[in-house]
Order: sequence, then structure tokens, then C-alpha cells
Amino acid sequence: MSEENFEEKRQRMVRKQIKARGIKDTKVLAAMEKVPRHEFVPDKIRSHAYNDEPLSIGEGQTISQPYIVAYMSEVLQLEGSKKVLEIGTGSGYQTAILAEIVKDVYSVEIIESLSIKSRIILAELGYKNIQFKVGDGSYGWKEFSPFDAIIVTAAPRVIPQPLQEQLSIGGKLIVPVGDTFQSLMLTVRSPRGFKEKKLLSVRFVPLVSHH
Ligand code: SAH
Repeated sequence: MSEENFEEKRQRMVRKQIKARGIKDTKVLAAMEKVPRHEFVPDKIRSHAYNDEPLSIGEGQTISQPYIVAYMSEVLQLEGSKKVLEIGTGSGYQTAILAEIVKDVYSVEIIESLSIKSRIILAELGYKNIQFKVGDGSYGWKEFSPFDAIIVTAAPRVIPQPLQEQLSIGGKLIVPVGDTFQSLMLTVRSPRGFKEKKLLSVRFVPLVSHH
């Protein structure tokens, strides 16, 4: 498939899957229009890259559905000056969307081969504002905390406490919580503590943790 075809499919994806379902944040829309999602999926399923579904990326893991990527990014109210932590680098696609919008992205992945693969693609695409780490992201990345936003793209059974603790005041944490049936939870930190809100029912792969 030619690059123009991918470009056309990507613009249609943004129109039909993202804008039509109510995503309005212009920074998120611009990032989704720009990032070549087909570069983040295995060669043999490239032609499906802009479909309205999650796709397999190997190692039993998936690249999230485009709408979910956009939705989670919009909820975090990202801006240029912000520092974001991502748990579950996976394909690196969500990482690229974040890196388009904010100044610094920190991304933790537990499967080394996926982390390496995503680093190569993101470097090829020219991103220089991403730091990678291989390890259990349920501990966060204390050295670089606090974060203005934390996004988790695998589901723990309960919200990992270190992630809440590594939020700045005013910071937002978005994480799918639960077993087979999960709720996308938003935690906002204020000077008085943490406030949690349930957003959507979702299905993510489980967060692997010995926590
Ligand atoms: N945002 C990714 C989603 C990948 S699926 C994308 O759109 O491609 C979730 C990822 O979380 C998988 O790559 C999985 O290996 C990773 N993961 C699971 N448990 C983890 C943990 N404890 N710490 C870091 N990453 C984890």
C-alpha cells in the first residue's frame, strides 16, 4: 500500500472514529492526523492499521484502538510544557501521540523486546523528547517525578499507589482498573488529596506486576 493510501486512511480515521465521537482537543486531533500508525504495527497487518479496533503487536500484547488513544489523551488535558509518564510503551504509538503534544515523555515497558522495537521506530520518526525504561511500571519512575499526567495502558486490579504519589498537584492519572471487566479511572491530585472518577468501561491487557 502506498504512503498516500495510508495518509488518506488516517485522515478518514480521525474524521469517522475520533471527531465523530466527540473528541475536540485540537492538539490531540493534530497528533492523530500526523502520527503514522501503520509504522507501529507488524508488516502483515499494516493495511488494518487505521481500523476501528485494537490490533495484535506480538508477545500477546495489543496496540490500543485509535479512539481510546485519543480519548485518554484528551482527558489528560495535555499542553506543551507538561511532563508525562506512560506505563506500557507497547508499540510506541500512544508514546508518539504524547510526544507530539508535550515537552517530555517518560515511558516504561516490562517486555524488553517491545521497548527496543518501539525505541527504534520512534527514533526513526525523529522523536527526541522520550525517555525509555524497561521494568515494572507499577512503581512509576520516581527519579523524574512529579508528573503532570500519568497514563497507564494495561490494567491493574487496583490503582498502584506509587503512581498516585508521583503526580504533581493538579496532576491527572488515567488507568484502566479491574479484571476482565475494567473501568477507566481518572484520579486528580489536589492539595487536599486525590479525587477519583469512573469514565468508561474498557478492555486492556492486564498489567503484569509483583506489587
Ligand atoms: N500503549 C500501547 C499499549 C500496549 S498494551 C500501544 O498502544 O501500543 C500494554 C502494554 O503494557 C504491553 O506492551 C505490556 O507488555 C505492558 N505492560 C504490562 N504490564 C506492565 C508493567 N507492569 N509495567 C510496564 N509495562 C507493562
